[in-house]
Amino acid sequence: MTPFAFHIANDRAEALALAADGARFVGGGTNLVDLLRQNVDSASQLVDVSRLTSDIQEADGGALLIGASMKNSALAAQPLIRERYPMLSRALLAGASAQIRNMATVGGNIMQRTRCAYFYDVDGARCNKRQPGGGCDAIGGFNRYHAILGASNDCVATHPSDMCVALAALSAVVHLAGPAGERTVPLAEFHALPAASPQIESVLQPGEMITAVELPPATPAMVNSEYRKLRDRSSYAFALVSVAAGLDVVEGNVAEVRIALGGVAAKPWRATRAEAALRGLPATRANFLSAAEEELAEARPLEGNAFKIGLAQRTIAAVLESLAGDPA
Ligand SMILES: Cc1cc2nc3c(=O)[nH]c(=O)nc-3n(C[C@H](O)[C@H](O)[C@H](O)COP(=O)(O)OP(=O)(O)OC[C@H]3O[C@@H](n4cnc5c(N)ncnc54)[C@H](O)[C@@H]3O)c2cc1C
Ligand code: SF4
Repeated sequence: MTPFAFHIANDRAEALALAADGARFVGGGTNLVDLLRQNVDSASQLVDVSRLTSDIQEADGGALLIGASMKNSALAAQPLIRERYPMLSRALLAGASAQIRNMATVGGNIMQRTRCAYFYDVDGARCNKRQPGGGCDAIGGFNRYHAILGASNDCVATHPSDMCVALAALSAVVHLAGPAGERTVPLAEFHALPAASPQIESVLQPGEMITAVELPPATPAMVNSEYRKLRDRSSYAFALVSVAAGLDVVEGNVAEVRIALGGVAAKPWRATRAEAALRGLPATRANFLSAAEEELAEARPLEGNAFKIGLAQRTIAAVLESLAGDPA
């Protein structure tokens, strides 16, 4: 690890000024510090933003504004989140370990890097994300955890966050502040697919920071929601496939449905095709499965992860069936 200067920001202006001078933001440090220690990443200065806004504010109409420095464990435990957006609380609790969730922040979770093993192997592996143009050893190598949707010939990595899958399904909006002022970006548009530039992972610009995440006022399908994560062991493991879903059934038909997938792409994958296919249809297992198949129709598996297609289809159907209660 190369030495770096460490600053603690007392307010946003101080953090942005230090970032303008080249400092990197650090929240809980649970991902960035590992990357620095393993020489996957480097920094000459870090600015600790974990003491900035870490509360939840409720706006008129019921929208919630979550401070970017709020800890993952605190957010999962918030009564407002557990009651109105249970899929988000469950996604947070499905991630990492209690110790890591106590340190990890909302902003850092959104910005966490892929868990592709070749990305971390600085001495032995080719990785376009680390060294653009260098090649990708995952494509012909160990790719059980890699993407089946939206990947490219240059990178097949997945985004590892559980929290972000629920945020995508909830139509959350990311609030940013930077040298050019403040702006908002829907979470579903925040992370980038790799195309020919896998080193570009989000729309965040140099010196720009995440200040908050906004949840829209809760709808019936946000309240009746679930997060299910499939993994190689039952805790402390990243998702092979995960599903965040919400459902509102009125007189037997789908009135509102929200679905996002984790573990399948370089970003949390909002299943817009499946959602569109289901709206207005009877809430039956057959219709849930057929919509899931439509969503996965363009999946392009690698040698080691074709099982993810069926796993994602069956999990979408099973979660929706459970949310429907007693479908025909
Ligand atoms: C052993 C282990 C198991 C894990 N398992 C899971 C899991 O199952 N599911 C899961 O979802 N996650 C898992 N994680 C990842 C964990 O969730 C992340 O490490 C954590 O969320 C990152 O948050 P942080 O605040 O510590 O980020 P940091 O490490 O502090 O920062 C991460 C990145 O975010 C940037 N950043 C931080 N704050 C801001 C901000 N406000 N604005 C802009 N950029 C910012 C940093 O510059 C850095 O690039 C695991 C981690 C470990 C170590
Ligand atoms: S999948 Fe992406 S992160 Fe993994 S080795 Fe290939 S380029 Fe690197």
